[in-house]
Formats: sequence, structure tokens, C-alpha cells
Amino acid sequence: MAQVYHAVLVRGGDPPKPPASGGTHPPTPPLGLTLGPVKASPQTQLRLLELADLDAELARLDHRRRGLPEVAELARLEARASELKDALVVTETELGDLTREQSRAERDVEQVRTRIEKDRARLDAGQVSAARELASLQSEIESLHRRQGDLEEVVLELMERKETLDSRHDELTAERDSLGSEMAAVAARRDAAVKEIDEQAAKASDQRGSVASDVPPDLLALYDQIRKTKGVGAAMLRARRCEGCHLSLNAADLNVIRASAPDEVVRCEECRRILVRTPESGL
Ligand SMILES: [Zn+2]
Repeated sequence: MAQVYHAVLVRGGDPPKPPASGGTHPPTPPLGLTLGPVKASPQTQLRLLELADLDAELARLDHRRRGLPEVAELARLEARASELKDALVVTETELGDLTREQSRAERDVEQVRTRIEKDRARLDAGQVSAARELASLQSEIESLHRRQGDLEEVVLELMERKETLDSRHDELTAERDSLGSEMAAVAARRDAAVKEIDEQAAKASDQRGSVASDVPPDLLALYDQIRKTKGVGAAMLRARRCEGCHLSLNAADLNVIRASAPDEVVRCEECRRILVRTPESGL
């Protein structure tokens, strides 16, 4: 079953609703507009449809501008760039720590080596003759060798870790650089698309200005007030349907519209847009 609704006439003489006081006023009917008398010739009302088309076009362009795939793509790339930046900071910090750790281990190896050389020099110089002292010195040299081996292993392990981190750092840097070029390319595509949309919007906006200048101020004010909430303020009544909300009018409302003077400004009760009558209205 087709949905039906009521049409409302813009009644010029309707006073603003008085506030209910003491319950003495009869209930105010739910219909009626707060604007003053608005009448317009059928030709002027038709201009509203041009205005509505241009407003719809402007809204489409605005929607396209915000929904450009390049905008989403850039956001994705920027998120990745930010991840890479963080990862690079972490890697560089780790590399710094590892480099310091490696230097420390290398210094330790050097110290042990020096100590071994000193001990050996004492041995070779025959400075130690007591058997017990000799044994103790030889045992110290052996233990120093073990210590040197352990430390050298630590240095090797640190070098391997550093190598892995270095290549990770190289990968991150390479990705960051290629991401930078990719972002520049996407931004250029986005800018070109935005420029084209802006040019179309400027054209539509100019046309809108020229159409609006043909519409009397009171009607334009009514239209703009509706436009603020609806996007467009007027719709054609075509084949007994409001083209704004696509709902059909019932017979009683159609009769009211038929009976109204051509310069009455009729509004759709359902969506509140101005209903513009044309030969296609089916009245
Ligand atoms: Zn409607």
C-alpha cells in the first residue's frame, strides 16, 4: 500500500501560536508555519527547482570531495608512516644500546688480554721461581683465557644482534622513503581531484547565486531555512508524489492543492519541503 500524508498550505495570515495559559485557548492545530505570508508566481516557484538541483549538485560535490579514495589512502599511508617512525626510533635506540654494550665488552676483552700479556711477560722473564707462585700464575692465565673466550663470545653475539638490527633499520628506512614518494603521488592525485571538484562547485555556486537573485527574499528565506535541515528546500510535485521524500499525496490533500491559488506556496507535510507544482504534477 502506498504511503499517504497530508499537504500543508502556507497560510499568510496565521499568527504565531500563543503560549498556552490557563487552558482557556483551544488546542492549536499541529499544522502551520512560523514564517510570514509567502506567495510566489508559478514561474518564480519553478526557479526553486533549479535552486534545489544546484544545491543537490553542491552537496554531491561536497560528498565526493570528502569521500575521495585518495583521502582514505592517504590516511592509511600516514598511519603506516607514523608506525614506521616509531619503529625507527625504537630500532635506533636499541642500536645505540647495543653499540655501547659492544664497546664495553670489547674493552673488557682488551683488559683481559693485557693482563694475560703481563702475566706471560712475568713468566717469560723468569721473575717467578717459587713453585707455588708459578702454579698460581699459570692457573690465573688459564682462567683469564677462559674469561677472554667468554667475553669474545659475548662480543660476537652482540655483533650478530647488531647486524640483524642494522638490516631491520635498513628495511624500515627503505620503506619510509618509498612511502614518502607514494604519499607525495597520492597527495598530488588528491589535489588534482579536489581542484576539479572545486572548479565544478564554483561554477554551480555562481549559477546558484544568479538563480537565487531571481527569487524574492521572503521565498528565498523560507527555502534556505528548509535547506538547512533538508539539504534542498524544494521538490517537484510529480505524478501526485513529492519528489523530495517520494511519498504519494492522498486524494484529500490533492484536492486542497487543486483548490489553492497558483501563487500559494505549498509544503509537503511529510518532509516539509516546498512542493512546486508543474504540468507533471498530476493534479
Ligand atoms: Zn516530501
